[in-house]
Amino acid sequence: MNFKPLSLYNTASKSKQEFQSLTPGIVKMYCCGPTVYNYAHIGNLRTYIFEDFLRRALEYAGYTVQHAVNITDVGHLTSDADTGEDKLEKGAKREGKSVWDIAALYTEEFMRDWERLNLLDPTVWPKATDHIKEQITLVQTLEGKGFTYKIDDGIYFDTSKFPRYGEFAGLDIENQEAGIRVAMAEGKKNPTDFALWKFSPKDVKRAMEWDSPWGVGFPGWHIECSAMAMKHLGETLDIHCGGADHVRVHHTNEIAQSECATGKPFATFWLHGGWLLESKEEGGGKMSKSKDEFVRLQTLINKHYDPLDYRYFCMTSHYRNYLSFGWSNLKSAKEGLTSLRKKTAPLINQVTSIESDLAHEWRDQFTSAICDDLNLPQALGIVNKMLKDINLMEGEKGALLLDFDQVLGLDLGKSDAPAKESFDTLDRELSSLLQERNEARKSKNFARADEIRDLFKEKGYVIKDGPEGAVLEKIQ
Ligand code: AMP
Ligand code: ZN
Repeated sequence: MNFKPLSLYNTASKSKQEFQSLTPGIVKMYCCGPTVYNYAHIGNLRTYIFEDFLRRALEYAGYTVQHAVNITDVGHLTSDADTGEDKLEKGAKREGKSVWDIAALYTEEFMRDWERLNLLDPTVWPKATDHIKEQITLVQTLEGKGFTYKIDDGIYFDTSKFPRYGEFAGLDIENQEAGIRVAMAEGKKNPTDFALWKFSPKDVKRAMEWDSPWGVGFPGWHIECSAMAMKHLGETLDIHCGGADHVRVHHTNEIAQSECATGKPFATFWLHGGWLLESKEEGGGKMSKSKDEFVRLQTLINKHYDPLDYRYFCMTSHYRNYLSFGWSNLKSAKEGLTSLRKKTAPLINQVTSIESDLAHEWRDQFTSAICDDLNLPQALGIVNKMLKDINLMEGEKGALLLDFDQVLGLDLGKSDAPAKESFDTLDRELSSLLQERNEARKSKNFARADEIRDLFKEKGYVIKDGPEGAVLEKIQ
């Protein structure tokens, strides 16, 4: 098998490099997954879409991808400096549910978004709470090698024992020390030291806690990714990905603890997706869950967008660049995808094989764009130009579209149907919308509640509020 040469920007070397896998033909890829205490916002989803393009591009280039995406269901505190509330406990308090129910609910919601966006399922979805033993073992290895110390609130990693700490992110440790001193837990030796295991507070039974050789508590956030990646993919990965916000703390810490434990590089390629920003029209700034209202995939669906409109929108900018989200930008993307579907529909029924030199040239152009650090905006331009080529046979155009869609993931082969909205998902949509309306009423957001009531009307339902909560009745 000939693998197409693929050039990828590696955060570790800060340059584009030709990709080589450690085992010929096989790529071990780990992507940091969601913290399941709330819905994913469309910024999070942008990162997963970029990782899906990467996975598809690797497969298009001929590789088999062993792919892990973790579910963080414990240990992620609201502050990166190992202080603050556990995000799961925060979600549980907010909704009056148990932490386990919160994790189950938002994992399910996440999986729904995943499917609606046409993201390929990873080989494995490891959950942090299923890997407590592995995390403890890894901390013990670090302890045995002298990289840890104990303070009142937990077991910490001593970053001064890893001389390359901070190199990956180009951190200026001196200035960082001054910057985060305020948030330092008492007894920490260096501001950049991070918790590997946190103790439960004395006389408090936490909702999620486990026995360990050091006392009852719970794992720090970073250790889970190292432990699960090593268990499912091995000590050195080919590719590790995440959003750009993970470079400075989370990935820097993953590298320190993994490399000190094994003495080997943790990953050869590190890829990071740029942020989704809110456009000025939406208030500006990084899309983030800490804002009161954030835009999620369901918000787009409620406004009659197809999830694949958002996928297409993400292709309009290079994955490393910022992408500015606003309703007018999304509308343009929707128009772009609709127009592509219109052109595609008649071609799909007359697909032939790709034979002519001209068709091969178009395929080469598309492949070169994809293999040049996933240049999706350029690849989209090539698709549109190819469709206009009057010298190319219609059957070959159809064949090329199906071939390209292995990477694009736009369901172009089914272009007569609006992509991801089938009747069985509609029922689930309605119940989730109903839930959102109940929440809106509870928080006295009557404008949103009324908006949802009108949406139901459009879909042919009337909402009846009763003692058992709201119920739906079909308009006859
Ligand atoms: P979280 O669920 O907060 O752990 O984040 C899941 C993924 O989304 C991580 O890879 C983050 O780096 C990424 N992420 C968070 N905010 C944004 C954003 N505004 N734009 C793009 N990616 C983001
Ligand atoms: Zn991670």
